[in-house]
Amino acid sequence: MTMRLIGPVYLIGGQDYNRVYVDWPANDPNVYLIDSGDTFVMVDCGCGESLSGILSNVEQMEFEVRDISHLLLTHEHFPHAAAAAAVQKMGIEVLASEAAADAVRSGDLRTAAFWYNRQFPSYEGPLTELEDGQHIEVGRLSLKALALPGHSPGSMGYELVVDDCRMLFCGDVVRSPLLDSFRGRPDYDRECYVSSLKTLLEEPPEVLYPGHGPFCLSHGRTWIQEELKKVLSYGPRGVS
Ligand SMILES: [Zn+2]
Repeated sequence: MTMRLIGPVYLIGGQDYNRVYVDWPANDPNVYLIDSGDTFVMVDCGCGESLSGILSNVEQMEFEVRDISHLLLTHEHFPHAAAAAAVQKMGIEVLASEAAADAVRSGDLRTAAFWYNRQFPSYEGPLTELEDGQHIEVGRLSLKALALPGHSPGSMGYELVVDDCRMLFCGDVVRSPLLDSFRGRPDYDRECYVSSLKTLLEEPPEVLYPGHGPFCLSHGRTWIQEELKKVLSYGPRGVS
């Protein structure tokens, strides 16, 4: 089952597509596929068990799995990045922020795998580190990496402009239903988070593709403002 969203963007995985039951009530995030006109770019890759289901979703379209060339990780948390090693072994280039790449390579507490009573799968292949503002050119696409630390140190958004419409793959930075429970985490940084959200509000995208839950197909600014309000409503050390 796949869903075409806007322009070249498809939904190929997520908690209601390839349900994975883990010990903690969490699941695959939204997994996106972007058609560059040449090859395909995946955004996030799920917990691992669901990868074959995600790839079979790709095959059910007119697309070939072997044409997927890049995987962009929005951050280092287990549901988003656990399948990255398996994806890399398929010959797909994996890209992430420096902090997320470091966490994925080490598989340590920063991946939050312990929340799910899992080991983070060992990652030994190459992993391309992205800098804030860096452009990723694939086929006719130009994606811009935006460092958005706060939810986690390695959180990074990916901006895509299609027909003058600015879209952002924002991971768990906006609209994560799990966000409240993450506020007491050691790597949650409220100050950074507020700053990232304020930066986004300077030139907000119209469309938001979050890591969890429904998409914001318009009024991105409103959803970012809502998130900022929520973050500010908590104290600096999380839920009090
Ligand atoms: Zn997260």
